[in-house]
Amino acid sequence: MEQFVCNSCETVYEITMTRWKCDCGGVLDLRKETPNIDVEAWRQYPNSLWRYVDTMPFANDAMSWREITMGEGQTPLLVLDPLEPHTYVKVEYTMPTLSFKDRGAVVLMAKAKELGVTKVIADSSGNAGTAIAAYAARCNIACDIYLSDQTSPKKIAQVKAHGATIKEIQGTRETIAAAAQQAVEEENVFYASHVYNPYFYEGTKTYAYEIYEQLKGVPDSLIIPVGNGTLLLGAYYGFKELLENRLIDKMPKLIAIQAANCAPLCLAYETGKPKAAPFTNKGTLAEGIAIAAPARSSQILEAVRDTNGTFIDIEEEEILSAREQLADKGFYVEITSAVNYAGYLKYNREPGEIVVIPLCGAGIKS
Ligand SMILES: *Cc1c(COP(=O)(O)O)cnc(C)c1O
Ligand SMILES: [Zn+2]
Repeated sequence: MEQFVCNSCETVYEITMTRWKCDCGGVLDLRKETPNIDVEAWRQYPNSLWRYVDTMPFANDAMSWREITMGEGQTPLLVLDPLEPHTYVKVEYTMPTLSFKDRGAVVLMAKAKELGVTKVIADSSGNAGTAIAAYAARCNIACDIYLSDQTSPKKIAQVKAHGATIKEIQGTRETIAAAAQQAVEEENVFYASHVYNPYFYEGTKTYAYEIYEQLKGVPDSLIIPVGNGTLLLGAYYGFKELLENRLIDKMPKLIAIQAANCAPLCLAYETGKPKAAPFTNKGTLAEGIAIAAPARSSQILEAVRDTNGTFIDIEEEEILSAREQLADKGFYVEITSAVNYAGYLKYNREPGEIVVIPLCGAGIKS
């Protein structure tokens, strides 16, 4: 049976409704066996990310997901421009709530349902809150979302539409997270956090499984935007599992992208630090990745270093231009998502290098 294990002090905990961090303050990972991947078995499942449910730590007869799935996953992987046939975009904004967060949210909420949860609290800069609110509605679970009063009105409208209660908080992402965590403790409810709950990463790891199936192999590098690192860590875990099963013979390089105005991980990477130091967010158009103190910074840095990847930071003026260039090719992404393409344009790739860029959020969101 899988358990939670502290990333700092290795204390082990049972998986319960209310456990979300270690008593020492450390973040929790899942302690589980590496799944035995049976590629043939994938075909028996619906064409969604639930093809890979056998690799996720649910009970063998877990059915909670069947009632709440909205067909998330299996997003298109497309050549962006015929002149660059080795560069692909993965169109994550075709997901039910229009961002990649549905991968993690559906898996996390399926677990919440299995645990018998009746109320969840989450905090978000927008898209995670939207996704959690949608799947909470689908599960008939009450939901409070803590958001900044600066959040894009369109994302707030999306959360409200699902019947979640919005708690608008003034202050930084860290202040908002602290308010949510205090409420979680006081109300003794489930913290549906995309950052803290490792089940979220069991969902985002399907990004890797899908690329593996679509490319019939492993790309050379993945461009990944990083705020809290939920897509980056998921992709890393997914490809690690494929590697451990010998379905691929190398890891893709993780090319992590941050906005220069809020780049604590870039700085730690460049100065050879094992974790990020507190950083002052100077304000960025890329609101979705403006995380000054990412809780899993040491894991993110380790993953990038382990794959011989790198970090790239993006200036404000590069963001809007990248958004226009993508739209010129037919893809309309939210402003935060444009940093991914800006990162690709700055990345020094080798001839023939196979690169995948995620298009994380839909243009109508911001
Ligand atoms: C959440 C999100 C990101 C960054 O994800 P992190 O988990 O914070 O690293 C990037 N782009 C969009 C559109 C997002 O919604
Ligand atoms: Zn601990």
